[in-house]
Amino acid sequence: MRRALVIMLSAAALLSGCSGGKVLRGDNPFRIIPQPLHVTEAPGCFRITSGTPLWVDDTLFLRTAGMLNGRLEKAAGWSLPIAEEFPQTGGIYFMMVDGFGPEEYNLRVQPGRIMIESGDGAGAFYAVQTLLQMAPVEIFSDIPQRVRAWEIPCADINDKPRFKYRGMHLDCCLHFFDIDFLKKYIDIMALHKVNRFHWHLTEDQGWRLEIKKYPILTEKGQWRRETVIGSLSSGIYDGTPYGGFYTQEQVRELVEYAAERHVTIIPEIEMPGHALAAISCFPELSCGLEDHYETATRWGVFRQVFCPKEETFKFLEDVIDEVVELFPSEVIHIGGDECPKTSWKQCPHCQALIRKEGLKDEFELQSWFIQRMEKYINAKGRQIIGWDEILQGGLAPNAKVMSWLGEEGGIKAARQHHEVVMAPYPKYYLDYWQADPDSEPLAMGGPTTLRTMYEYEPVPEVLTPQEQEYIIGVEGCVWTEYMPTPARVEYMAWPRMCAIAESGWYGGEKDWDGFTRRLEHHLGRLDRLGVGYCDAFFNPFIELHKDTPADKVVTVSVDAPDAEIRYTLDGSAPTEASHLYEKPFVINRQQVVTAAAFRDGKQIGQTKHKTF
Ligand SMILES: [Zn+2]
Repeated sequence: MRRALVIMLSAAALLSGCSGGKVLRGDNPFRIIPQPLHVTEAPGCFRITSGTPLWVDDTLFLRTAGMLNGRLEKAAGWSLPIAEEFPQTGGIYFMMVDGFGPEEYNLRVQPGRIMIESGDGAGAFYAVQTLLQMAPVEIFSDIPQRVRAWEIPCADINDKPRFKYRGMHLDCCLHFFDIDFLKKYIDIMALHKVNRFHWHLTEDQGWRLEIKKYPILTEKGQWRRETVIGSLSSGIYDGTPYGGFYTQEQVRELVEYAAERHVTIIPEIEMPGHALAAISCFPELSCGLEDHYETATRWGVFRQVFCPKEETFKFLEDVIDEVVELFPSEVIHIGGDECPKTSWKQCPHCQALIRKEGLKDEFELQSWFIQRMEKYINAKGRQIIGWDEILQGGLAPNAKVMSWLGEEGGIKAARQHHEVVMAPYPKYYLDYWQADPDSEPLAMGGPTTLRTMYEYEPVPEVLTPQEQEYIIGVEGCVWTEYMPTPARVEYMAWPRMCAIAESGWYGGEKDWDGFTRRLEHHLGRLDRLGVGYCDAFFNPFIELHKDTPADKVVTVSVDAPDAEIRYTLDGSAPTEASHLYEKPFVINRQQVVTAAAFRDGKQIGQTKHKTF
């Protein structure tokens, strides 16, 4: 009986679809990023054709079904009919099933049907992301292919996330990025099952969020007079005013766009430091020690910070009132990082406040500041998250911590039973070099390679199992000092963010070789989506491992799998017959190391050279 049903289903599948064009074959169900938790391959495949009906048993799934259709329409010029009655065979079925956890799904591809089961909309959405990655890479094309059928290999996938918080940050203050780019950014996040967009909106160098009560914040505060060229201490400026901001209408549009992709936007309003753009509009909110307050024109940390006086709290509370109206997120990021205490130490008001409140020092004053704002935000039904420094002087009672100063802040907060997101510098800092700084564009520091990011384990071993439960997730940080354009953001973020996304989603053992094999295929998807990722993946990375007069040891590595490195020491271009790199070697200062990666006798990637 069961076998008969399978035969019937197979026949139906073969009969469906007949328009012109080729059949594009997805060949490997194991090339998904982030890796699904459980994958079982099965023989055969399912062909998606223009006749394949879509069935949703809950209207909650309609949007995701619509997005699947949107992708098919773009890639092939046709989409699937939404069935009004339950199709007995041959369809793609979205089913609401009890007993699934948040974001969990089951995806079963059989010769006669595709079954997607989940307990919520996010689970179904992630099943579709997986399904698309089981299809041929051409399904990510925006140029319609002449395709009659998309062939999906049969498999049974049960999948759920390791962490509930899987974040990607973007600083839109040091440089400004328009809404269209942010939508693309969120699309690519969602493809990788990343579900939190941390939107950095206020800074010393510009205020980017329209606040109706204080229009000057964007009229004036969006602008800086000019911008430093090169590193923060270069002393050379471009002489060109720089600005940009988001209207509340744009914000609402982006929040909705993200929500449709199961991405929650977490806005960041910096306090008490990194506030110079706001203070340039309202100098009375500072400690008043300077003659002149102006939006910063270079990068770094500035002593001009919010003074904890009543009018400052009134201002911040007014801002928060509008922020909570705009962003439904349960969590509001209040910054809290890098607040120098220079001004507070000299300010009579701050010193009187420290005495009045019985505080020990300026660090406790900072804690008092954050706790007061937390109370206000909690009363609005929201929680706060802040960078490590909110631990200084005592953590606010309900605060979550985003651990960026290495792991220590995260460890300390978890031990105090506060929720923690691991975003440690430099391991998860995408503004650091990913390849040889000598041949890469200017970056913050490093290098922090793809492999370093992949291998970082976000749950510190020193925590007890109970404390480890407080690590709720991971986040990749994209600070944009040296990313003036969308293209540079994509170059720095991808493919390293693939590694962070996998650490956030996949709860199994790390497997670098397996990851690189999947990633190489995945790059084909990013190509079609127009993501300008860094291609250092295929290039040898030549490093001086040990530089002492006695040892000049060179190491060469390449991320691409199944590649061998060939090198020369006389400046000539390596061929497949040159020295094979097998282990670190010693050179002298006159020698030039020139290396390239080869696979099956053919060079992949660029030739790299280095002198010491
Ligand atoms: Zn003050």
